[in-house]
Amino acid sequence: MEGLLEGQQTGKRKWMYPLIRKGTYYKWRSIISYFYLIFFFSGPFIRIGGQPLLLLNVIDRKFILLGQVFWPQDIFLFVLATLVFIVCVVLFTIAFGRIFCGWICPQTIFMEMVFRKIEIWIEGDVKQRKKLDAQPWDREKVLKKGAKAFVFLFISFLISNTFLSYIIGSDSLLKIITEPVSTHIVGFISIWVFTIVFYTVYSHIREQVCTLFCPYGRLQGVMIDKHTLVVAYDDVRGEPRGKLDRKHEHDGERGDCVDCGLCVDVCPTGIDIRKGTQLECINCTACIDVCNDVMEKIHKEHNLIGFFSENMIHKKEKPSFTPRMMGYTAVISILIGVLCFFIFSRSEMDLTVMRSGGLLYQEQPGGFISNLYNAEVINKTNKNKEIIIKPEDPDIKLKYIQAPTKMGSGADMKMVFFINVPAAKIHTGQMKVRLQLISDNKVIQTVKASFVGPIND
Ligand code: SF4
Ligand code: SF4
Repeated sequence: MEGLLEGQQTGKRKWMYPLIRKGTYYKWRSIISYFYLIFFFSGPFIRIGGQPLLLLNVIDRKFILLGQVFWPQDIFLFVLATLVFIVCVVLFTIAFGRIFCGWICPQTIFMEMVFRKIEIWIEGDVKQRKKLDAQPWDREKVLKKGAKAFVFLFISFLISNTFLSYIIGSDSLLKIITEPVSTHIVGFISIWVFTIVFYTVYSHIREQVCTLFCPYGRLQGVMIDKHTLVVAYDDVRGEPRGKLDRKHEHDGERGDCVDCGLCVDVCPTGIDIRKGTQLECINCTACIDVCNDVMEKIHKEHNLIGFFSENMIHKKEKPSFTPRMMGYTAVISILIGVLCFFIFSRSEMDLTVMRSGGLLYQEQPGGFISNLYNAEVINKTNKNKEIIIKPEDPDIKLKYIQAPTKMGSGADMKMVFFINVPAAKIHTGQMKVRLQLISDNKVIQTVKASFVGPIND
């Protein structure tokens, strides 16, 4: 906060040089981040039943989750799933504050667990980095800064490619990479635009994404309350703080905080958690680790900084499952129930039939009246399918202009056909014809198509 305030006061940003101290939480964050990174980079290449694990193709409005294909017709499922996700995040925030930011958010994982480590590897520890930034552009600075920029750009390029393959699919990405640029100009430009964006974020914008731009961080203030477990400083135990000295060591006048300032030094957003919960805190737990280290050295209990609610510190209450949390849990349970119902009752294929506009009916030999139709079938399964479309009424005939062929998994297919209805069946000039979509000798779906003909009295 001091850094931020200083920045706000001077109008100049204070560059962060957070100290890295490897405590228990840091080790757990590292383990989670390794899993996360493996999953992120391998995700586009994992196939389930021939389909990607995850595809968010907003361009073609095709979404795949765990190998299940979702088409525009299923968009409400996606809206519902998004709603479930948002309510889960709200509940999680009410219960545990902004812990998502420090432990799961890709911005923090890439910044602290990838780019920061590379920076330290190339430029050295905090002291060395500060010295390097302050010195003139000599050979050492050019070499180190150049090497860092190159590695950052390379990793940003990898992230950009992976990110894009979650949108267009790894096969399409491979085509962009292997085929001439002129045939994939939009894809090529997209890769480089994303690369520059990621590079700028991780090399320059950094923690400002969390402290200035992220809307979730701003909203946190309205979600957390006195029961929320957040990274907090136990001021009852810690104050009055003061440097460790022999005079005060045993007199009981001082709190446990020895005012070493290390909790500020390790903070990636530059705040002093001892000033209370702040919007800029991403709950990364770096200050807990370093303070526990200090407490060990001065033979005091851990968790002067820890996961506490305000009521735990000031009213000595135990963590509780509040009515507010119960309410959100109930909403989530209902939403998940509804989502599961729709997912499991979802048909494996989807047929839409439309009568060709602007065309009247035609009289056919044998006393039949015909209408022309355009139809589309979507195969939502992971298998190849052969289909036929058949009128439910055996007296009604269907004649293909564009017949169905074998459908690949996740494919959609268009058909054109005439429906011939015996004139004697048409009484009011309009009727509905029921059509069955049949695959593997099973009626998958029945739809109604409007049919027009002469008015027979
Ligand atoms: S690290 Fe702990 S002891 Fe040191 S200043 Fe921060 S709260 Fe006080
Ligand atoms: S105050 Fe602590 S938990 Fe919050 S961002 Fe800073 S180091 Fe991380």
